Amino acid sequence: MIAKFLPYLKAHRGQVALALAQVFLVAAFELLKPWPLQIVIDYVLGSKIPASDGPVVALLSLPKEPLLLLACLLLVVVHLGAGALTLWHNYTTIRVGQHMVNDLRGDLYAHLQLLSLAYHSRQRVGDLLYRITADSFAVQTMIMNGVLPILSAIILLGGMLIVLFPMDPTLTLWSLAIVPVLFVLIALFNRKIVDVATEVRDLDSRVYSLVQWGMAAIKVVQAFTKEEEEHRRFMGASRESLGATLRLYNWQTLYSGGVNVIIALGTALVVYAGARSVLSGQLSLGQLIVFIAYLAQLYQPINQITQSWGLIAAARVGAARVFEVLETEPDLKSGNRQFPPEGARGDVAWHNASFRYRPGTPVLNAVDVSVAAGSKVAIVGPTGAGKSTLLGLLPRFFDPTEGSVTIGGVDIREYDLLSLRSQIAMVLQPPLIFPLSVADNIAYGRPGADHASIENAARLARIHDTIARMPEGYETQLGEAGVTLSEGEKQRITIARALLRDAPILILDEPTSALDVETEALVMQAIETLMEGRTTFIIAHRLSTVRRCDCILVLRDGAIAEQGGYAELLRRGGIFADYYRTQFAPGDPAGDAPGAPPKEAHPELPVPA
Ligand code: ADP
Repeated sequence: MIAKFLPYLKAHRGQVALALAQVFLVAAFELLKPWPLQIVIDYVLGSKIPASDGPVVALLSLPKEPLLLLACLLLVVVHLGAGALTLWHNYTTIRVGQHMVNDLRGDLYAHLQLLSLAYHSRQRVGDLLYRITADSFAVQTMIMNGVLPILSAIILLGGMLIVLFPMDPTLTLWSLAIVPVLFVLIALFNRKIVDVATEVRDLDSRVYSLVQWGMAAIKVVQAFTKEEEEHRRFMGASRESLGATLRLYNWQTLYSGGVNVIIALGTALVVYAGARSVLSGQLSLGQLIVFIAYLAQLYQPINQITQSWGLIAAARVGAARVFEVLETEPDLKSGNRQFPPEGARGDVAWHNASFRYRPGTPVLNAVDVSVAAGSKVAIVGPTGAGKSTLLGLLPRFFDPTEGSVTIGGVDIREYDLLSLRSQIAMVLQPPLIFPLSVADNIAYGRPGADHASIENAARLARIHDTIARMPEGYETQLGEAGVTLSEGEKQRITIARALLRDAPILILDEPTSALDVETEALVMQAIETLMEGRTTFIIAHRLSTVRRCDCILVLRDGAIAEQGGYAELLRRGGIFADYYRTQFAPGDPAGDAPGAPPKEAHPELPVPA
């Protein structure tokens, strides 16, 4: 698992090297800490004589008063040094850790955007949100609160053993007696903590999902006065998550409690054996003080290792969830063919294309259709027939499970994904507005477009006048904190966006009649402009639109039930004719549109013999 983090560490290798160097320095200062006290006890208060000679001996042989002052000064310097270094080290590790989290998040977000809509349709948004915001912290926890502390603990431990062993080998061994016991404890608790931590993260991400759902559906919730029930549902999930979190804390507390008890036992053992060594004259009092001072510190690194182990165990779960996403192969492999700069000609065909979102539930069954460049194709059929899915295959939101889709006779999988998608402009329902300026919203599909073309698109989409009346014109901020638009205005902004994109193929989900007649007329005019000269697929809800199209595809249960021109299909008296009778007639306002069949034709259809 740690190996997967290496690239993220590598990106900050300078800082990581610095952090490692600091680990050694901090350890050195920690090792020095008890020694001034030893000098005071043995050489100032006691009457120990320095054993050999050298510069240290010369210092230790100073008169007691200056030696005491020197020892006290040393005490301050060592603690100050250790403190300052620890601060610096913490700053470095937090900095590196946060940068790594940032990098990982960036990769995660970029990767999520590569994955197909088929993947996203299987995921809960809240869960992904949790992975990006919370789980990505695992990388910091693992490296900075796990690996580095363990490393520093090992270095400190090694240093202490090197100092202690020559002083009293037996006592050193006694103090190590508890290490195996500690590691057994780690092994026992580790599994349990990982299990509970997994549960916590899963439950936590469920809470995220519920919030995301609840907020997205707030209108419906309020409309149906379901607030209490939704709150209950939320609290249920939240309580479950709370329960698991408390259980995790319990296990962690139990674990550190166990560690503390074992450490106390070890300390008692060493104090007992050490005091006997002092009594028998084998060890000086000052040395015993160093021993006991080290002991507290000796167990600290071991404790640290075990604590970090617990943290690593929990963080591994988060990391696993992050890498699960990162290692999901993009299910859409981009090809390397490019469309010519002037764009595709726009003849499109589906060849025996089948598709299912989930195994066992086919949504499209062997659809076989070809459409000449520049035609306007209406797609009609009941909700759930697969209209959006059929059109979703074109920009490769997902690939057909069988069969293929071609543009200009070439399988679209051979094309570079970006090149392919840049051939297609879409106006989808509901119209989506980003929290950007009006100009940026229109230029969303063509960043860097100049103001004149943005304004031109807005004029063609019949929205320019509305924009001109806004407080800051094209620079007015929309969405969230900014100006909110009516449905009709949003529709026309998205139409302007598609116009500006100027792609040879157009996918349109015709706005349904949520608009008032006047606005609807404006939107439809804009759509007319947009369709000019492009191969257009329009999910049509209105008779007037269907009538204007060159070809009508009637989709039912994921298959083309009928196809042909308007008059031809009516003449045939099949499904479309039925549909015409029930869906479009006689209340459809489009029936009154100029050129529409006279109203009295309903419900008796003008079916020519
Ligand atoms: P239409 O556009 O004709 O209303 P769709 O193409 O949206 O139909 O849906 C066709 C079928 O596929 C429906 O049964 C729908 O429930 C299912 N479906 C659509 N989108 C998804 C999705 N993201 N995940 C799973 N099933 C889906």
